[in-house]
Amino acid sequence: MTDIIHLLPDSVANQIAAGEVIQRPASVIKELVENSIDAGANQIKIYIKDAGRTLLQITDNGCGMSETDARMAFERHATSKITSASDLFSIRTKGFRGEALASIAAIAQVNLKTRHTEEEIGTEINIAGSKVTSQEPVNCAKGTNIAIKNLFFNVPARRKFLKSNSTELRHIIFEFQRIALAHPEAELVLIHNDAEIYNLPASNLRQRIVYVFGKHINQNLTQLNTETSIVNVSGFIGKPEFAKKTYGEQFFFINNRYMRHAYFHKAVLKAYEHILPPDTVPSYFIYLEADPETIDVNIHPTKTEIKFEDEQAIFQIIHASTKEALGKFNITPSIDFDSETAINIPVMNRHTEIKPPSIEIDPEYNPFEKEHYNRGNFSHGSSRSRDNATHWEKFYDGFENPNLHPDSFKPEQEAVQTTFTSSGSAGSSGHIQLRGRYILTSVKSGVMIVDQKRAHERILFEKYIHMFAHASSPAQQQLFPESIELDPADYSFLSDILDDVNSIGFDIRSLGQNTVVVYGCPADLNNPHPKDLVEHLIEEFKNTEGAVKISAKERIARSLARSTAIGYGNTMEQEEMRELIDKLFACENPNYSPSGKLILTIIDIDEIEGKLK
Ligand code: ADP
Ligand code: MG
Repeated sequence: MTDIIHLLPDSVANQIAAGEVIQRPASVIKELVENSIDAGANQIKIYIKDAGRTLLQITDNGCGMSETDARMAFERHATSKITSASDLFSIRTKGFRGEALASIAAIAQVNLKTRHTEEEIGTEINIAGSKVTSQEPVNCAKGTNIAIKNLFFNVPARRKFLKSNSTELRHIIFEFQRIALAHPEAELVLIHNDAEIYNLPASNLRQRIVYVFGKHINQNLTQLNTETSIVNVSGFIGKPEFAKKTYGEQFFFINNRYMRHAYFHKAVLKAYEHILPPDTVPSYFIYLEADPETIDVNIHPTKTEIKFEDEQAIFQIIHASTKEALGKFNITPSIDFDSETAINIPVMNRHTEIKPPSIEIDPEYNPFEKEHYNRGNFSHGSSRSRDNATHWEKFYDGFENPNLHPDSFKPEQEAVQTTFTSSGSAGSSGHIQLRGRYILTSVKSGVMIVDQKRAHERILFEKYIHMFAHASSPAQQQLFPESIELDPADYSFLSDILDDVNSIGFDIRSLGQNTVVVYGCPADLNNPHPKDLVEHLIEEFKNTEGAVKISAKERIARSLARSTAIGYGNTMEQEEMRELIDKLFACENPNYSPSGKLILTIIDIDEIEGKLK
């Protein structure tokens, strides 16, 4: 029998590795800019064309490479950053796996010009699909200039998988923001199709945050600073009242490397417990410094997931540090801090057992119970009940979750066929509101339970869809047009949909510089609070991005319905409940909310009888 196992050619192995490291143009930016930082650069310029599809070019003033190194750099597992396995436990550089350049060269056409600081003449290399096509001496500036053309040119499946230019650009902006916040000492420029998106001078951290997210954020920040033997925590957090409805300003860094950390995020949220407006998430820019020996950055090829030896202790330290900083805003009543002295956090030994702190809460207490439901128009209510943890899940998997399309929701059970008619409700049957959340009504076959918020969302959704179809409502001009400054990613979201949004009765105009002005809103909106609506729109678009085809108008309608629907915890009068139920059953689809959640259910009379046997 013949043997069948053989080694893969390098070009194939590199292409496979590229699948893990390079998912999209933004991954190229991340890898190359990290290389520039590792090379000691403090001026880095990024030029991209067509959201990186045709060109991604990075120029730096770092140490550059010698002729031999320039060639070696494209070999797999070729790195100058570690030499032995033990170095893995003292990583201070961004890279160390030696696979980024090899991967990129396997799936694109690469032109590299580099000159080492100590050399007079530089080296130019052209390489495409892992094949070097030329290498020669060249006159060039000190540092490195690398151009990546036609990404995925030889992997059509990957190229096809790329999203729209605006989506890919947004991913690039997110990567850029992470690098910019990790390295305020570096001058960074990002240019897309000849338009400058960012031009950030070297600065301190606070200024950098302001340059990246806009002037408005400055007054919103307070400083964190906690030093312990396990970890040092520094950075800034945002005031609770400025917390946003959308994600985008939550950052953790460990030893100047951006990371995602769901558990530590909870530590921050816990510090904000009971002081956030409903359905919002606070901004934070939290920098951890820890001994590299106590962390593992090598658990994922993109190195954004990091394992800590002392996660529970760090959780407590982050929580305490955030709480202390919030105390400086004078809004957390619990602890009396001397604002100038640092909080005294017990220094823990790595091996002592750590118990999560316990707090006593009254699960029945609802701070919004008293809030009276706005009569007549089911106007915007507060919905505190949704745990902030749900935001977090959204943060991690929402962006391209195909399940968010309403059509893709497969009802778990057949839609409820009710014998209920709208005229029926007007008659004798009274409604009972349960926990500010459900409406109970007696119907022929038993007891019907309606979720008030979902019901109202459905009603509004259909109303808005109707409004769009008939384009009936001209914009009602705002008395005081509100200008809203967005971060570039959100601005690009909104610019994409501005025409559609305006076609249904908004009058939102772009001022450039990531700022829009809301001159008008549709006349019959329940909650014409422009900033709120715009934030919701953007959130909705982020969350449905990449979903199966769902029209822009439908997404707008969903978003508006959500932001203007009555929340949980609002007390409703008989008349109001009746109106809600009537309108629900006048809807085309009273069973499911626009995002596919069940609105109502019926407890059968047989079931009730069974229970009372
Ligand atoms: P890694 O960063 O993990 O070492 P890469 O494939 O990204 O692997 O890069 C390989 C090597 O090429 C690096 O270790 C570094 O020595 C060199 N290199 C890459 N980019 C630059 C740059 N912009 N300036 C100087 N050297 C670079
Ligand atoms: Mg690298």
